[in-house]
Amino acid sequence: MEQFVDVILPLPLPGGFTYLLPQPMVGEVHEGCRVVVPFGRKKFYTGIVEKVHALRPQGYEVKEVLAVLDARPILLPVQSRFWRWLSDYYLCTPGDVYKAALPSGLKLESETVVELNPDYEATERLPEREQRVLDVLAAEPEQTLTKLEKAAGVKNVLSVVNALLAREAVFVKEELKRAYKPKTETRVRLSADARNEHRLHIFFDELQRRAPKQLDLLMKYLELSCALGGQERPVAKRDLLQRTGATPAVFSALVSRGVFEVYQAEVGRLDNRLPQGQGTPHALSAAQQRAHDEIVDAFREKNVCLLYGVTSSGKTEIYIHLIQEALARGEQVLYLLPEIALTTQITERLKRVFGAHLGIYHSKFPDAERVEIWQRQLSDTPYDVILGVRSSVFLPFRRLGLVIVDEEHETTYKQQDPAPRYHARNAAIVLASYYGAKTLLGTATPSLETWHNAETGKYARVDLSERHRAVQLPEIVPVDIRELIHKKRMTGTFSPLLLQNIREALERKEQVILFQNRRGFAPMIECHTCGWVPKCQNCDVSLTYHKGLNLLTCHYCGYTMPLPVRCPACDGVDLRARGFGTEKVEDELHALLPEAKIARMDLDTTRSRAAYERIIDDFQQGRTDILVGTQMVSKGLDFERVSVVGILNADTLLNYPDFRAYERAFQLMAQVAGRAGRRERRGRVILQTKSIGHPIIAQVIANDYEGMAAGQLAERQVFRYPPYYRLVYVYLKHRREDVLEQMAQDMAARLRVLFGSRVLGPDKPPVARVQTLFIRKIMLKVEATAPVARVRSLLLAVQREVGAEPRFKGAVIYYDVDPM
Ligand code: ADP
Ligand code: ZN
Ligand code: ZN
Repeated sequence: MEQFVDVILPLPLPGGFTYLLPQPMVGEVHEGCRVVVPFGRKKFYTGIVEKVHALRPQGYEVKEVLAVLDARPILLPVQSRFWRWLSDYYLCTPGDVYKAALPSGLKLESETVVELNPDYEATERLPEREQRVLDVLAAEPEQTLTKLEKAAGVKNVLSVVNALLAREAVFVKEELKRAYKPKTETRVRLSADARNEHRLHIFFDELQRRAPKQLDLLMKYLELSCALGGQERPVAKRDLLQRTGATPAVFSALVSRGVFEVYQAEVGRLDNRLPQGQGTPHALSAAQQRAHDEIVDAFREKNVCLLYGVTSSGKTEIYIHLIQEALARGEQVLYLLPEIALTTQITERLKRVFGAHLGIYHSKFPDAERVEIWQRQLSDTPYDVILGVRSSVFLPFRRLGLVIVDEEHETTYKQQDPAPRYHARNAAIVLASYYGAKTLLGTATPSLETWHNAETGKYARVDLSERHRAVQLPEIVPVDIRELIHKKRMTGTFSPLLLQNIREALERKEQVILFQNRRGFAPMIECHTCGWVPKCQNCDVSLTYHKGLNLLTCHYCGYTMPLPVRCPACDGVDLRARGFGTEKVEDELHALLPEAKIARMDLDTTRSRAAYERIIDDFQQGRTDILVGTQMVSKGLDFERVSVVGILNADTLLNYPDFRAYERAFQLMAQVAGRAGRRERRGRVILQTKSIGHPIIAQVIANDYEGMAAGQLAERQVFRYPPYYRLVYVYLKHRREDVLEQMAQDMAARLRVLFGSRVLGPDKPPVARVQTLFIRKIMLKVEATAPVARVRSLLLAVQREVGAEPRFKGAVIYYDVDPM
C-alpha cells in the first residue's frame, strides 16, 4: 500500500506539502517526526510530519521523502495543535511557526552552514559517510549542506550531518550567536596609539579616503566594543569577522596599520556554576500565605488567575511555593519572564530551591544548548521547571500543570518581527488550556486587557497590597521642569531638587537609578543654519547621534555613518544635537558628579547577555553608584540600596502617539518607582515633567492603578480600542511607492466592502520606509466578540485577490494581530 506524508516546511508558504514514502519507510514514519524532503530545484529541507495517510494528491507529480530523521516524534500532538492555533490566530503560515519554534540544529536545510568542532575527538570508528563529511570539513571548516554534499560525494548529507550533530562533532553556524565556545580565543582591541582620540581621528580620515573596508571593520569594532563609550567590552576576532563578513586580510591591514592589536584570552564555557541543590524556600508572610491560598482556591474555579501585587510584595516567593506544590503533584511548570528580566538574579533564586530540576531557556543561548534542552524535555527525565523567555512556550512538555507569566504587562512578550507575531502571555494561556494546566499572571501594573478580563470574571484576581516587611511604597515628588527651564534653573537635564537628592543619597552611601526613555546621546543632529537633519539612506527616519563613537546610526536597520563636519545642504558648520538620551545624561552626570561611579544600561550597552549581567552585578555589589538607563531599568530588578529614583522626563512617555501611551507611561513610571526603597527605608522618586497637571502624573503620584485603569478603559470603549475591540494591522510593502499606494487603496476598498467602517486607512506608518521597502498600513478594528475564524478567512480571501493581480507583483503582505 502506498503511504504519503503531509509535512510542514520552514517556508512562508500556505498549505501543507505532500510527499510519497518510499517502500522501506512505509510504517516507519510517525506524526511529529522529521523527514528530509526535496523542494524546488536542488534544495532540501527538514520537514515535520503532520499526517501520514494513503491519499495520493492529484494534479502534480509527488516527490519522495529522502530520509527519516527520528524514530520517535520530536513534536508532540499538543504542540502541533498549538502550532495550528498560532498560525490561525496570528495569520501566518505553519512554516513561520516552525521556523520560530525549533532551534536551528533541529531544522537543517540545504542552505544551513555547518562548522567543524575543532575539539572533537572520535572515540570510535565512525561510519564511512560520516568520516567523509568530517574530512571535507577538516579541509574547509564551514560549509553549506549543499556544498558539503557535493564535496563529500555522499547522498542525503542532511541525515549524516544530523548524526554528526548528535555526536557534537559539528555545529550549526549561527549569524550572531556562536554555537561553540573554545576555551581560549583571539581577541582584538585598539592599540594604545589608537586610543588617543586625536590619533583615532587621523586614522578615520586616512581610512575614509583610502580603505573604506578597513573603516567599516573599525566602525563595527567600535560599536561592538564600546571602546570609546565607557563600559568597554571584549571582542573576539572571530566574532568580529563573522559579523562584518570582512576578510582576514582587511583585519590584518588594520593590525599592521597600528590600529588594532590582538591578544589571547581565556573564556569560560557556559556558566553552570550557579548554586545547586535543594534549599527550602522562605516561609511566606501572613499576607503572602493568604494570597497563596486564594490563588489555590481560585484555580478550582478558573484556569487563569491574576496576582495583582505591588512591587516588592513577594510575588516571586509565592511563585516558588506554587511551583514546589506542582512538582509534588508530579507536574511540570513553565515560568515565563520578559527577555530582559531573565538574569542571574532570578535564576539564582530559583536554582537555590529547585537545583537540577530547573532548566533555563534563553534566546541568547547557543543553539546546541537549546537543542539539548529540547531533546531532554522529550526524554524520560525532563526538567520539571523551565524558566525562560517567550520562545519557551514552544518547548515540549509532557505533564505541564502550571504556567507562571511574570510581569505579564510587559510588551516584550509580543514578538514584533518576524512572524509569528505572537503574544507569549496569550499563547501560554492557550497552551496551558491544552494541557489542562493553570496560568498565573503576576504584576503590580496589569495590562488593561488582563485587568478587564479579571473585572469581567473571565480571570480570577488575587490582591497583595503590602510590600514585604511593610516597607513603604516610595514617596513620589513631582517637579515642574517647564517652569524651571523658563527660569533657567535647570542644569542640563537635572532640576535642583533631583541633583540635591542624588548628592544626598551618595553621601549616605545609597544608590540612585535614573530613567530616561531614550538611548543614544541625542535623538538627532540638526544643522542650525538650514535645518538639515541626517536621515537613514534605507529608512524613513533620522539618524541617532552616538557621541562615544562619534557616529550616526539608524536604530531600524543599523546603517552607520561618521558625523559630518559640514552640513551637506548648506555647507554650514554649526551642527547641533537636539533632544537627549541616556548617553547624554551619563555625560552630564560625569561632569556634575566627577566622583560618582556611573553605569549606563540601554540596548547599546547590553548587546550581549554577559554585558547586561555585568552592569546589574556591578550595581548590586555597589561597584557603581548611579545607574542610568532606558526602560530596561524598570524590569523587575531587586536592589537593596537604591533610595532615589529619578524620572528625567515623563513627557516623552506621555506624548508617544499610540493608544496605549498612557497605560504604558503609568506602568513604566510605577515600575521604575518600584525599584526605590525595597528594604528598610522609604524610597523617594523625583518625577520631572513639563505636564505637571496631567491626570496620569497625578495617578502615578497617588499610586492609583485602579483609577488609571478605569479612566483608560472608559476611553478605550468610546474610541473602540482593545480590550473592547480586536485590532489587526495589515502591512503592505513594496519597492515602488506608486505601486504600493495603488495596492493599499485597492485592498482597503475590498476590505471595506466586507468590513465597512471597521477598516481604517491605508496610512503611512511613522516609519514609512524600512530597508528600502515602502510601507502602508491598513487597520482593522473588529468587535472582540466577532468570530476570529471568519475574519481570518475573509482577510485571506482578499489577500489572494489582490495578490493575483499582475500589477502588484513583488508586494509583501503580512498581518499583526493584537499589535502592541
Ligand atoms: P516581587 O516579586 O513582588 O517584586 P520579591 O519576591 O522580589 O517581590 O520580594 C522582594 C524582596 O523581599 C526579595 O528580596 C525577597 O527575597 C524578599 N522577600 C519577600 N518575601 C519574603 C519572605 N516571605 N521571606 C523572606 N524574604 C522575602
Ligand atoms: Zn545646513
Ligand atoms: Zn535604516
